Formats: sequence, structure tokens, C-alpha cells
Amino acid sequence: MSGLALIFVYLGVAIAPLVLAAASLRPPRPLMDEIASAAGLVAYAILLMEFVLSGRFRSISGRVGLDVTMRFHQLLARTALALALVHPFLYTLPFARPMPHDPTRQLTLTFEAEGLVAGLFAFILLPAFVALSIGRDRMSWTYETWRLLHGLGALAIAVLVQVHALHAGRYSQDPLLAGLWSGLLAVSVLSLAYVYAVKPLLKMRRPWRVERVASLADRTWELVLAPDGHDGVGYKAGQFAWIGLSGHAFSLKENPFSIASAPGDGPLLRFIIKELGDSTATIGKVPPGATAHLDGPHGHLTIDGRQEPGIAFIAGGVGIAPMLGLLRQLEIDEDARPTTLVYGNRTATQIACAGDLARMRRTHHTDVVQVVSEPPADWNGETGMIDAALVGRLFGEPRHRDWLYVLCGPPAMMETVEGALLDLGVAPSQILSERFRYD
Ligand SMILES: Cc1cc2nc3c(=O)[nH]c(=O)nc-3n(C[C@H](O)[C@H](O)[C@H](O)COP(=O)(O)OP(=O)(O)OC[C@H]3O[C@@H](n4cnc5c(N)ncnc54)[C@H](O)[C@@H]3O)c2cc1C
Repeated sequence: MSGLALIFVYLGVAIAPLVLAAASLRPPRPLMDEIASAAGLVAYAILLMEFVLSGRFRSISGRVGLDVTMRFHQLLARTALALALVHPFLYTLPFARPMPHDPTRQLTLTFEAEGLVAGLFAFILLPAFVALSIGRDRMSWTYETWRLLHGLGALAIAVLVQVHALHAGRYSQDPLLAGLWSGLLAVSVLSLAYVYAVKPLLKMRRPWRVERVASLADRTWELVLAPDGHDGVGYKAGQFAWIGLSGHAFSLKENPFSIASAPGDGPLLRFIIKELGDSTATIGKVPPGATAHLDGPHGHLTIDGRQEPGIAFIAGGVGIAPMLGLLRQLEIDEDARPTTLVYGNRTATQIACAGDLARMRRTHHTDVVQVVSEPPADWNGETGMIDAALVGRLFGEPRHRDWLYVLCGPPAMMETVEGALLDLGVAPSQILSERFRYD
């Protein structure tokens, strides 16, 4: 399914409750009441689909990219929140008792205790939950604790809304819509079960062994994994995997890292890891022989089948990792197209894999442009940042307009480079990128 088809499926599910509500042919109510119900119905549909969006399903994130999927997830969470917040306030004043003109309460709201209390709790929890997710970095929780609380909290809110909808919802009590809610809630629970139970079981059956951990550059490490009792994993150059090094497949401690080796290199997987937080800071202490678990491959930063006459790789810092895999595969395939790698770092001591790059320059004629913003006295490469001026200087000729550009690095660098390339007339479809942070 293409990205566009996925969007249509998504929109179809989001408006399905509205279609079912309209088809139930209830007596008409004031317009504001109908808008209030519609806001509630769409908010709940979006909320339930959030579980699938964040479930690391390759059929979704593999098409549009994990960063795009997660941004969509975040944007939709805010949309659902806005709809949920206006939902109770748009209703015309509720009547507690059946009105003489409406003995069956078809036209007025009723508030049974269960429905009201569940809705009220969800109404309070949802904004708190979204606010906690947005402000996660400012809290002292580890990523793993936050992730667990995020999953359980979302499930609790979904169950509360389900109770609310089935007891207080005008349309949701119709069997068809009630069936849709139950189906979507079941899919949400299954998504969580898939991520937290099925995936770990699958990982346990295909463990990996730490072959080597070596220092590559300033606070940057190479981790090499070997398949343990199986023949490895099929992947495309440029993809990434979640790696768990705790030794337990069910541990929540796992981090995404790009695969820096190429499929043509054999079953060993190589990763380049920059120290950042609690897991990566101790990567250098992982002993050879330790058990690792891998969830992957994921990601869409691949160039298989791309026919552009030349390829530019533009990397900042540890963004070099997927580029190495891609360049290495081109080298193995003896791809004759011109390639340029622009690799930026703050200091020369942060440059990783200088040996690989020198070999690629020699044997594959890759043009390697090193850029350092705080250069040593004897530096003879580019200085400063990878900015629009440098991009214009390197890729400003008309022939470069048809090239493929692959970007990976700090968000500010990616935005600058992307803008500069578009200004040079490069089509958006010729720019591929991967973000290492999607929040
Ligand atoms: C697709 C992708 C590919 C990546 N490839 C590389 C690579 O090749 N080399 C490299 O050094 N770094 C890579 N990263 C970044 C790397 O995942 C984070 O630096 C690492 O997870 C930080 O973990 P920590 O526990 O040390 O830090 P923490 O302080 O725990 O986390 C810092 C931040 O990293 C992110 N993060 C942490 N754990 C996870 C997780 N399980 N899932 C998603 N995000 C998480 C969160 O945004 C968090 O706020 C990649 C990230 C992504 C999304």
C-alpha cells in the first residue's frame, strides 16, 4: 500500500463512525448537538488508531518513514484532544429527566452514572496525558518508564472512553457503531500485545551475539552483532533496527540504531553509536559475547531502484551511520554513478570511520568532503557548518539538479540543507531523509 492509500484508509476509519451515526436515522437534534457528537466520535476513532500508528508496523512506517509516522501520531493526538475538549461544551443543556415531548429521550441527553463518570475521567486524563508526552524531556523519567506509562495510560483512557460512549453516547449504542468501537478497541489491545508480547517472543527465537564493541571516535562506538544460531536478517542498506542489550527480550530497554553495514557484507550487522543518554553512555562497557535482541529491519532511507545519475550523501555527526551502509552497498555493487559524501562534525576528533571513507575515496571514487566547525590548526578540509552556501558551492551546477540527495543529521542541518536544495531546483522526490529524533 502506498503512503496515499494509507492516508485514505486512515481517513476512512476516522469518518466511519460519522457514516454509521448518520445511517442510524435518529430524529434530528439541534445542529450544535450533532457537531458535539461528531467531535466525540471522531476523537475516539483517532485515539484508537493511535495505537496502530505507534505499533512499529512495517506496513505503515516502512512506507512513509518512522519519523513521519510518529509526527502524524503526535499531530493526531493533539487533534483528538482538541475535539475531545470541545465535545461536552457544544451540547445544548442536558435534561436529567425525560421531557414530555421526548419520553424516550431520543432528543435529549441522559447521564447515567457510569457513562458520565467514565467520560469525566477521560476528559481530565487525556489533556494531562498529552501534556506529559509533550513535556517528557523535562521530566526525570527514563525513556523506558515513559514508554510503558504512555502505553498503559493510553489504554486506560481508551477503555474509559469506550464505557462513556457505550453508556452515554447517542449513536454509539447502536449495534453497528458499538461493534465498530469494540473492533477498534480490540485492534488497539492487539497492537499493544504485538509490541510488548509477540515481538519479544519472536526476538527470543532469533538472538544475536555481541561480536565487538570498539571506540571509533570521540564518544562514538562501533557495535558489531553476529546472528546466534540463525542466518541473520534480510535488510536494505540504510535501514535501522531497535537493539536491546539487556539480555532479556521482554526488556523495554531498546534503542533504534541505523545499520552501518551493507547487506552484501554478510550476516554481521554493524552499528555506529554516539553516547547520549543512559543506554548509549554505557555502550562501551558491553562485553563481547553478550546477548542482544533485534527488532528490525525498519526504515525507508533506502536507495534501491533509484535511477538518478548521481547521489549525494549529506551527514551530520552520527548521521554518518546509514550513509556508510548505503555507500558500502554501492561499492559492492560496483555502481559507477558519481557519489559525494559531505560529512560534518564539530571537531576532527568526532570523525568516525575515517579508514572506510579513505578506502571509498580510493576504490569507489567517492568524493568525500569533511566539514568541521571547530577545526584544528592543521585542518585542510572545509570549515564551518553544512549550510546553504556550502550546498550551493558543491551542488550548484545544472547536472546536480537531477541527483538523488540523502540526508541524515541534526534537525537544524537537515532543514537548512533541504531548503538549500529546493532553492537550487532539486525536486522534493529526490531528497530522502531520516531523523534520529521524532519528538
Ligand atoms: C531511526 C533512528 C535511527 C537512529 N540511528 C542512530 C545511530 O545509528 N546511531 C546513534 O548513535 N543514534 C541513532 N539514533 C538515535 C538513538 O536512538 C538515540 O540516541 C538513543 O536511543 C538514545 O538513547 P539513550 O538511552 O542513550 O538516551 P535517552 O536519554 O534515554 O534518550 C534520549 C532521546 O533518545 C530517544 N530515544 C531513547 N530511547 C528510544 C527508543 N527506544 N526509541 C526511540 N527513541 C528513543 C528519545 O527521543 C529520547 O528523548 C537513531 C534514532 C532513530 C529514531
